[in-house]
Amino acid sequence: MSYTCPKCGSDNITTHRNIFEGGTSDINTTTRGGGLGGGSGGIVGGLIGASTTGKSQTKAALKYSPPSKAVGAVWGAIIFSVILFLLLFNGAPGTISLITFAIVAGCIFYYNHHKKNVYAPKYAEWELMWHCNRCGTDFKI
Ligand SMILES: [Zn+2]
Repeated sequence: MSYTCPKCGSDNITTHRNIFEGGTSDINTTTRGGGLGGGSGGIVGGLIGASTTGKSQTKAALKYSPPSKAVGAVWGAIIFSVILFLLLFNGAPGTISLITFAIVAGCIFYYNHHKKNVYAPKYAEWELMWHCNRCGTDFKI
């Protein structure tokens, strides 16, 4: 691997995919350093330290996670619920099936549109993203 960080020139870099999949532990170095305070607090300190590390790994995984495919479906569901709510309190029964069909078609269209125009490009970009373990810069290769 001949890639280097564009900011500091370090070759200690890793992909966002790697971070997300837990392929590195270096990401946590800044949140450590509490140490085992010694004496009777040692065990408690150790437990807190362990949970802090676990949490920050989750946070890192979250920060570097791939884009969500579900967003389109979630928006579709929200729009669907709102319109259904309006229908139930305002409804003209004769047109409900037609409107329901339109809503479902709208949700499917929105989901596909989101997947193709928002999710796919974002995912492609995410796959090219790298993180520098030395200076913390995120960059695209
Ligand atoms: Zn760097």
